[in-house]
Amino acid sequence: MNQAGRCRRVFSSCGLLFLSVGCATAATALVSNDPAQLLKQAESAQPSNRAEFDELMGRLDQMAMRLSPQQKLHQRYLMARQIAFAGNYEGAMPSLKAIADQAVDPVLAFRASATVIDLLVTQSRYEEAFARLNPLLDQLPTMKEGDVRMQGFGVAAQLYNEAGQYDSSVRYANQIIKESTDAQSACRGWFYKSDALFESGSAQLPADQLHEGMEACGKAGDTLFALSFQYLLASFDLRQGHTESAIRVLRASYPKVLQAGFPPQVSQFEASLATAYWKSGDLASAVKFANDALVTNANRQYSESTTNAYRVLYEVDKELGDSKGSLAYLEKYVAAHDDYQSRLSAKALAYQIVKQQMLAKKLQIDGLDKKNRILTLQGELDRKAVETSRLYIALLLLVLASIALWTYRIKRSQLRFMRLARRDGLTGIFNRQHFVNEAERQLRYCRKSSRDVCLVLIDLDHFKAVNDTHGHAVGDRVLRRAVDACLAHLRSTDVFGRLGGEEFGMLLPECTLDNVLARVEQMRAAIAAVSGARDAPGIPISASFGVAAAATSGYELRQLMIDADCALYQAKHEGRNRVSLFEAGMRG
Ligand code: GH3
Ligand code: MG
Ligand code: MG
Repeated sequence: MNQAGRCRRVFSSCGLLFLSVGCATAATALVSNDPAQLLKQAESAQPSNRAEFDELMGRLDQMAMRLSPQQKLHQRYLMARQIAFAGNYEGAMPSLKAIADQAVDPVLAFRASATVIDLLVTQSRYEEAFARLNPLLDQLPTMKEGDVRMQGFGVAAQLYNEAGQYDSSVRYANQIIKESTDAQSACRGWFYKSDALFESGSAQLPADQLHEGMEACGKAGDTLFALSFQYLLASFDLRQGHTESAIRVLRASYPKVLQAGFPPQVSQFEASLATAYWKSGDLASAVKFANDALVTNANRQYSESTTNAYRVLYEVDKELGDSKGSLAYLEKYVAAHDDYQSRLSAKALAYQIVKQQMLAKKLQIDGLDKKNRILTLQGELDRKAVETSRLYIALLLLVLASIALWTYRIKRSQLRFMRLARRDGLTGIFNRQHFVNEAERQLRYCRKSSRDVCLVLIDLDHFKAVNDTHGHAVGDRVLRRAVDACLAHLRSTDVFGRLGGEEFGMLLPECTLDNVLARVEQMRAAIAAVSGARDAPGIPISASFGVAAAATSGYELRQLMIDADCALYQAKHEGRNRVSLFEAGMRG
């Protein structure tokens, strides 16, 4: 056991008392009648001055009707602290926890939360205390009030020190020193920092820190922290073997410590003095202070001071050769030491447990976060893929529609060109080339099936005269009327074409000769009738027809044409406007 002792024990036994960061002036200030002012005074009342605190709380109680809901909440918080001051930690806890978890007044919630942590430490419920510390530290950056921030930093510095996390403790202590606006707060920061350095095994305080800490705590006056800082300096002296110096420092402060009358601190000084005297060889003084420490600490059987006091008594008896007394103290020392050690282990363990729990929680949250992000990304990808596919489909449909449209247009113009290529521009019937093709196809078919077929050639009579007399346009019209007149007497299987100028050809399949002659006669009459039509009044129109039958001329188109032409010539010769049939005798 380190004989220099751990001064922080004094706070873990009653840390609550140190959470208020009031200044000495608050204690002596005039008592106000303003609720807000009263609440402020009660908040900063010195824990050592309980009478003043109780008086302030009594006054607040009297003006309960005048308090706003928020002020009532503040009063409730202070009442919980009052209960805690009286030592009833369990009684204070439910109110404090409720205030810590409410959201109406975040500053008050923060204060209550810090007090809850302090109470938990006081009750050695370290795991719960550490679990509450992290949310409190998360809140700290949003707190603007100086004293509230100090409270947060103080709790963090103390708890980290308890857990053996000295670097963190020093960090928060530095923050207190940096943000402190009065000597008492600065002293407190220096104390936490020096304590953490001591606990981490430093042999001594760096000179500048020693100077600044002493100055701040000197200015702070006889507060518990100023005295504890002196105690810490003595502890450093003891660790270095500067026993005389340690005794000097401890003795100088001891009367003020007794005056302050805070038992854990008094016993701490006494146990430390006992150790120092034992080391200096003044065994009588050592025994006196060790016994004083035990008496002062009667209620706190297993504190560090008690452990140290028993050790001194055991060592002194051993030196004096009192083996019986020595053995008795050794037993007590070992028991106190074991308990003290197990408490230390419990704290470190609690810290590690909470740290692991936080880590596991964080990992779980990170895991869920990642999973969520993956799902979101996957969703986005899916959505994009669907959008892309839709786009592709739309594009494809567009391309297909364009292709279809172009195909249709090409086909249509192809058909149009084909039609144009096959038709006569003026009359719309087959042109000569197409007539020849179609007629030959029909003839082949008729030849195969030995069907009757006739070829008819038509030539308009004196057509030149029509043109000459009435003009070319009228001539064109007459040509169209003559064609229409013939079409009215044709069947779908008949082939009809303009062979050139005012000459036309007709192939009439599957028709007996008589039948052909009758139909041709009808056509002739129809053409002749055009003269009387409305758009060709008085124009002499007629046509001559030459007919050749396959039965006489054969199925060769060329021969049929020659023979029909021969018959046509005959018709012209005989006076026009008539039908002439080719007969075998006509060939020259
Ligand atoms: P015939 O009775 O002996 O057949 O006398 P014709 O005047 O009809 O004889 P010809 O074959 O010499 O005259 C044909 C005329 O047809 C000559 C030409 O002016 C006319 N012609 C030819 N093609 C067209 C055409 O497309 N439109 C018009 N209006 N006249 C045409
Ligand atoms: Mg002619
Ligand atoms: Mg003619």
